Amino acid sequence: MENCLFCKIINGDIPSTKVYEDEFVFAFNDIEPQAPHHVIIVPKIHISSANDINEENSKYIAHIFEIIPKIARDLGFAENGYRVINNCGKDGGQTVSHIHFHLTGGRQFGWPAG
Ligand code: 5GP
Ligand code: ZN
Repeated sequence: MENCLFCKIINGDIPSTKVYEDEFVFAFNDIEPQAPHHVIIVPKIHISSANDINEENSKYIAHIFEIIPKIARDLGFAENGYRVINNCGKDGGQTVSHIHFHLTGGRQFGWPAG
């Protein structure tokens, strides 16, 4: 999609530090990390937010959750644990309108958040 920051990162029009890529997903380091490891995982099709997940595109989201433990293992924090976050819409704090999952690890996180 034109003018979408994360579509441009997927296409390589905007540089990023790639962590993982396959047919369905692209993962890269967050530019403003909130933890020692902070990876953004996006589907390779433009889905604006969690509100737009449907029967046709949910396989992309399922795949993201299949590769999360793989990325966590590859980066060495799977065993200690991690947090996965999706911000949806204004109240959720979403700033980029291409659905993405924050995979954060390497430190302990508090709860409840926000
Ligand atoms: P949101 O607030 O929408 O859930 O998350 C957007 C995330 O994208 C933020 O954590 C922000 O730091 C990250 N981000 C914004 N612009 C860029 C960019 O140009 N490159 C990278 N690697 N991350 C970005
Ligand atoms: Zn997009």
